Amino acid sequence: MTADGKEKKETTLASAGRESKAHFGVVNTPVYRASTILYPDIARLEARDMPFTYGRRGNPTVKSLEDAVTALEGAARTVLLPSGLNAAASAILVACSAGDHLLMADTCYAPTRSFCDKTLKRFGVETTYYDPTIGAGIAALFQPNTRAVFCESPGSLTFEVQDVPAIAGVARARGAALLLDNTWATPLHYPALARGADLSIQAVTKYIGGHSDLMMGYVAANERYAARLLEYHDNAGLYVSGDDCFLALRGLRTLAVRLKRHQETALTLARWLQGRPEVSRVLYPALEGDPGHDLWRRDFTGACGLFGVVLKPASKAAVTAMIDGLAHFGLGFSWGGYESLLVPADIKRSATRFAAEGPVIRIHAGLEAPEDLIADLTLGFERLKAAS
Ligand SMILES: *Cc1c(COP(=O)(O)O)cnc(C)c1O
Repeated sequence: MTADGKEKKETTLASAGRESKAHFGVVNTPVYRASTILYPDIARLEARDMPFTYGRRGNPTVKSLEDAVTALEGAARTVLLPSGLNAAASAILVACSAGDHLLMADTCYAPTRSFCDKTLKRFGVETTYYDPTIGAGIAALFQPNTRAVFCESPGSLTFEVQDVPAIAGVARARGAALLLDNTWATPLHYPALARGADLSIQAVTKYIGGHSDLMMGYVAANERYAARLLEYHDNAGLYVSGDDCFLALRGLRTLAVRLKRHQETALTLARWLQGRPEVSRVLYPALEGDPGHDLWRRDFTGACGLFGVVLKPASKAAVTAMIDGLAHFGLGFSWGGYESLLVPADIKRSATRFAAEGPVIRIHAGLEAPEDLIADLTLGFERLKAAS
């Protein structure tokens, strides 16, 4: 611990959730697989007096990850969920009931939008999309039945940074919950609950997993929402395996060193891309001059390796020629693994318009040497020019 009594997050990452004394001194909690838990007698069974009562409700590997995340988030409780999308959907279901109204950032992850427009609507919850840069102006959009405001900062594909503390202040005053999809920054670089979120949402699939081999999500709650979150999780029968928790814990331990490198490489690529004649602008809040840079500096302690690039006008054939021949950038969805990725961005907005000068691509800067990534992109731009 430091002089002010607060442990640094890097230390929490390395130490939280470990119970080696309970596992013969083994550093990492082993993989438990369990459905039935045996009770020694009727009295203990009737009192459910065992550390774990039934497989669906957890086992030591699951608890190890829950405890680590709860410590990292500074939360009251955390529940682990089968995917990041399920975490976003679950947080909304915890906060909203039939007849309620939800305010959703227009820049949310597209499948979160689909959940609201289709599934949530069937249960009688209406969604209004709002401009992510609205700040305290969100007050004007509140209805008497507005029960939750959902933020995602920076926004998916276009990376607008939200003034979460300002929005949270309005939500708190109106008795609404503030939900934040914090996947981009991770709890390492944005303390969601300390900035005013009631429910912090994370796609563990991305940087905590970190190796492109795991699907998981979590919701961490403050005291106000912890009981509702646990009740929902239990009643919905949500469960993740000990095997997957073991992988997530393995990723979590190295999150800080990986993110540092992802951010450094992303900045190197972003600055290089800014100087390219084929590029109109780069969308990356950690970059000086980005519209969200000041808010990012105020509220975040770092960035990840994911950013957008708006190209100058180019034909589909030219962009295809550029992307199809890349050697180090994989073509695929998701991100946060050790490897670099690049995808064309399909931007869906309904409350705002994203005016792009040309095609938009999203880059995930992996852990490769930046020189090799720049060489790969240089050849890509040559193909783009040749096909134009
Ligand atoms: C990927 C992603 C999700 C969904 O995570 P999955 O584990 O793929 O379901 C949610 N929110 C954001 C911001 C994401 O990028």
